[in-house]
Amino acid sequence: MTFEETGLKPEIVRAVSELGYVNPTPIQEKTIPHLLNATNDLVALAQTGTGKTAAFGLPVLHMIEPFSNEVQALILSPTRELAIQIVGDLNEYSKYIKGMNVVAVYGGASISVQIKELRRGAQIVVGTPGRVLDMINKGALKLQSIKYLVLDEADEMLNMGFKEDLDFILSGTPTEKRTLLFSATMPTDIARISKRYMNNPEEITVGSKNSGAQNVEHNYYVVSAKDRYEALKRIADLHPDIYGIVFCRTRRETREISTKLMDDGYNADALYGDLTQQQRDEVMARFRNRGIQLLVATDVAARGIDVDHLTHVINYELPDDLEAYIHRSGRTGRAGRSGISISIVHGRELYKVNQLERISGKTFSRKMVPNGEEIFHNKIKMLAQKLKSFDFTDDKLAKFSNELEDALVGVDRDQLIHYIMTKELGRFVTDYEQSRDVNLAGNERGERSSDRFGDRGERGGDRRGRDRERGGERGGDREERFPREGARREGDFTRLHVNLGQNHKVNPARLMGLINENLPNVKVRIGKIEIKPGFSLVEVETQVADKLLKAFDNNVFFEDQTVSIKRDAQPAFGGGGGGGSFSGGGGDRYANRGGGSGGGRSERGASSDRGASSDRGGSRPPARGGDRPERNRYKTDGSAGGGRTGGGFKSKGKGGNW
Ligand code: AMP
Repeated sequence: MTFEETGLKPEIVRAVSELGYVNPTPIQEKTIPHLLNATNDLVALAQTGTGKTAAFGLPVLHMIEPFSNEVQALILSPTRELAIQIVGDLNEYSKYIKGMNVVAVYGGASISVQIKELRRGAQIVVGTPGRVLDMINKGALKLQSIKYLVLDEADEMLNMGFKEDLDFILSGTPTEKRTLLFSATMPTDIARISKRYMNNPEEITVGSKNSGAQNVEHNYYVVSAKDRYEALKRIADLHPDIYGIVFCRTRRETREISTKLMDDGYNADALYGDLTQQQRDEVMARFRNRGIQLLVATDVAARGIDVDHLTHVINYELPDDLEAYIHRSGRTGRAGRSGISISIVHGRELYKVNQLERISGKTFSRKMVPNGEEIFHNKIKMLAQKLKSFDFTDDKLAKFSNELEDALVGVDRDQLIHYIMTKELGRFVTDYEQSRDVNLAGNERGERSSDRFGDRGERGGDRRGRDRERGGERGGDREERFPREGARREGDFTRLHVNLGQNHKVNPARLMGLINENLPNVKVRIGKIEIKPGFSLVEVETQVADKLLKAFDNNVFFEDQTVSIKRDAQPAFGGGGGGGSFSGGGGDRYANRGGGSGGGRSERGASSDRGASSDRGGSRPPARGGDRPERNRYKTDGSAGGGRTGGGFKSKGKGGNW
């Protein structure tokens, strides 16, 4: 079927063809003829991404009388974002219809401005239930001439607690109108609305009920709870062009994960309930124009996000309500494109994967979290592709390129390759040189809970996992590929990367206090320390480095953040010569340059999320200070600390190779 054949007005057909729509989508094929030719109501089960806005928008625009100034159609949407999106789409579709006026009303924006817009006359009003109700109560919106009432994402509106508002609005509309209800799922409350307020509705389903988008691949990774973040990072690293939403269950988790991702240099930000509307708009604007690749969000905050081309949806935690999974995964694979929905699950949650398969009728495939070496091979491949297809057109640089070429006479290809590798991939070496296998054993879905999937990944041992572990122990291949420059002769120093920096209000003394508290009976000689915004580099005597790494293996918290210590790829700055030694027993050989602040637990300036987020907008450095989550105080044993530590710390610029 073509749009001409649907019987829609030529003005509308012209507008949609200019948008590149060639044929109606399956839902449009069903709704458009029904709405144009029948008289009863309509319940359509459809996900976002199926073309549902046009499915109701085009026939409604066709049937509206543009020369009347009365409100003839009311479209209710769960969120402001969706309302704005619908208005945008309707304006596009109606650009050749003279006199058509579509107005959006939603909370979080000036009501008086919206009242003025309504007074100017609108045939179609699109709004969120709360604000629509306010408008009705203020007498600014009259429902008596409503001919079409559209409930878009009706299940979401109910989930968001708009039940009473909906009842009120529905009961105030004329009985002889037509009601069109769109929903991705059909919970009992929707059935109730349909029964109570709708006239013998025609039920249209696109795809199977509750099935979610058709072209979405569903994958899951099984890791222990403590490795969720590691798995997320590796998945992101495996897909450098990833553009997606990471769903978390709580605001706190959302803040935590987005902050960690930003600290680790990923292009990420967060969307959660506490943001002001302006902050939310700014984050969304950056996400839409791909200034953000990974948007970390709660279900509530992500409602109504209407962004096409998402490559992935990642369930950092599966939702409690598995129906929400369908909504989440429907954010990718939109408008005929393919997408991937990933779930990072703990072994005890495998039964949920079974349930999801049942609900959605889709097959979920288990994937293995790649190890560092796999990621590296992938990155090298991608880097080569990037270099091969690099289009050198920057005139400003081009005029200097000959100069560089001359200056590089004698520099061999190997050196250039090494330079490019260091620049492009250097930061990953640190992360992946020592990468563990984080996959948990077992694929026996349906086991509700089992010791085998305990929190400790080590117990697991599927074939692949064991092989990897052995490979890791042998070290052979990996060692050659990633020479551990940080490892030095005994007596020398190893440089460690600690995920705490200026943003976490650590100073050298606090870091040393942290180390000594967690290695109480070991004499730890500490070399130089460099504190960066999001992390620190600390030299410790090589012979205790392993003990220290073990002691900190996800066991230690600083405030409410897990302290992660890894070997740094760069060699130590120069070893103990510049540093001093420190005895866990209390030797004060370091002079405390910090003026006695020691490991004293300085209270963090616990900024409120609102004020803190005021820097949203511009390009953001990888680490943020201001809008970190409120943190508890340092949670390790409170007895020790910097009182025992001294100074002798020498901050020094990172001696880069290039
Ligand atoms: P929706 O489900 O309304 O959010 O639509 C998802 C996307 O599909 C939007 O980007 C629409 O512009 C696009 N779209 C809607 N109808 C068609 C069509 N018939 N052909 C191509 N794209 C469409």
